[in-house]
Amino acid sequence: MSNRRIRKVVILGGGTAGWMTAAALAKVNTPPQFEVTLIESDDIGIIGVGEATIPTIHWFNRLVELDEAQFLRETKATFKLGIEFVGWNGGNSRYFHPFGRYGGPADAQMFFHRWIRASLGGFPHGHQDYSLATLAAMANKFGPPAPDPKSLFSTLGYAYHFDAGLYAAHLRRRSEARGVKRVEGKVERIEQDPETGFVTRLTTHRGQVVEGDLFIDCSGLRALLIEGVMNSGFEDWSHWLPCDRALAVPCERVTAPVPYTRATAHAFGWQWRIPLQHRTGNGIVYSSRFAGDDEAASTLMANLDGKALADPRLIRFQTGRRRRSWIKNVVAIGLSSGFLEPLESTSIHLIQSGIAKLLSLFPTRDCPEETAGQFNRVYGADVESVRDFLVLHYSRTQGRDEPLWRHCQAMAVPEGLSLKERHFTRTGRIVLSTDELFREASWFAVLMGQGLRATDYNPLLDTMPADENLAHLLRLRDQMAKAAATLPSHEEYLRRVMGTA
Ligand SMILES: Cc1cc2nc3c(=O)[nH]c(=O)nc-3n(C[C@H](O)[C@H](O)[C@H](O)COP(=O)(O)OP(=O)(O)OC[C@H]3O[C@@H](n4cnc5c(N)ncnc54)[C@H](O)[C@@H]3O)c2cc1C
Repeated sequence: MSNRRIRKVVILGGGTAGWMTAAALAKVNTPPQFEVTLIESDDIGIIGVGEATIPTIHWFNRLVELDEAQFLRETKATFKLGIEFVGWNGGNSRYFHPFGRYGGPADAQMFFHRWIRASLGGFPHGHQDYSLATLAAMANKFGPPAPDPKSLFSTLGYAYHFDAGLYAAHLRRRSEARGVKRVEGKVERIEQDPETGFVTRLTTHRGQVVEGDLFIDCSGLRALLIEGVMNSGFEDWSHWLPCDRALAVPCERVTAPVPYTRATAHAFGWQWRIPLQHRTGNGIVYSSRFAGDDEAASTLMANLDGKALADPRLIRFQTGRRRRSWIKNVVAIGLSSGFLEPLESTSIHLIQSGIAKLLSLFPTRDCPEETAGQFNRVYGADVESVRDFLVLHYSRTQGRDEPLWRHCQAMAVPEGLSLKERHFTRTGRIVLSTDELFREASWFAVLMGQGLRATDYNPLLDTMPADENLAHLLRLRDQMAKAAATLPSHEEYLRRVMGTA
């Protein structure tokens, strides 16, 4: 059995995907059972966007034993309590998708039904008053979730914004300290075993040869191994997610950084704003069918908070995924496995999801087909559930009548999404499978935010007198407002954690 063990793992690519994979493998490979080598090209560089995360990042940080204070300092990170959506229902409309939970610590999902029941009866207070993360974010405050499950603060959730280049460098230092070898050079030759078709070695432009048993393709949108050699094929999702270009530009920070990402809808796409300690990241995401690059660039530049620090950088992409992310001894992680769209910041989560599945299905040298098949099934399901959540934002804009948005309002949505919408509007329920990334609070925030309304609630709630339900909601609203007011400002908390207060 032991002679079938993997001896050498080769990671092609040193962007966020490559260095996250390297850091994770280095951590679990102690004492070392196999070598890990990462090849990256300074000439090609990294995509350099991908600066907002979601709370699942904590899984990865725990895995690699990340020191939060050091990470915040080295990557110029800020905290993120959610995303503010501006203009998705026309004009200056706004809603917030918070991390964490709605309601009090003991309410769980019944909170939604309590609130829907009250609001169907004319209750004037919005659901956003029942999310501590929303209240904190809007007041530019921050606090971490309390470990005590009875505390109101246990309902908070958070992630980070960070500088993508500094993050890759941070992970590189950690990985190299744990024994990962780095090779700089542009891979120009890829060799395969003539009988099995397995990749056997990569040769760089300097003539350096790197051999391996297992190859992780983190080469970004180039997908050099999974597509270039293994011909996986691409499943195009542009009929659901029509944007295919982005222009990214950093600008000067003009105020204290807020603890949330902002996503502002424009006539032909949307714009992100990601606050970091040293600058603000911005970008416009658009469909080339509905806008030219110059028009997109002038909209982006006209909507910056501060002075631009560079010229806008154009990035072309296609939404969709590889038909298979694991073929023979090649596993694609990161942009090489596909890309949905930056809205809701899910790509880094999908990198982690790929890493988690690779670790639990870590193969022997023969990489059994069953192992690859299982990876492709479970990873594929993950990507599809994220896709449906993103499509909801595009398909359900209200009050926007520009050609892009009219096109999206008329499109047929995936069946899984349609079912979720029907369940919610008829019964107030959010139906999820156990593995779905976005949970009840996220779906509730976006379904409500995009204008869908539940027409009923769980009938079991009728066992509680209506005035008791109202009294609970009023009391909780008051407690939440008071709790939010006690939190420190985001900047103050950041300084405190980094030890620079
Ligand atoms: C516009 C936009 C906005 C985004 N925003 C977010 C966000 O907010 N949140 C989020 O989670 N994700 C976001 N993403 C996705 C995120 O950027 C990526 O998932 C993440 O950066 C990982 O990229 P990567 O490592 O797969 O690819 P890359 O960063 O492109 O790295 C590819 C690596 O492969 C190397 N390479 C390529 N070819 C060769 C070769 N021949 N030889 C040697 N080395 C080679 C390169 O040098 C590089 O090191 C965004 C993506 C886009 C396009």
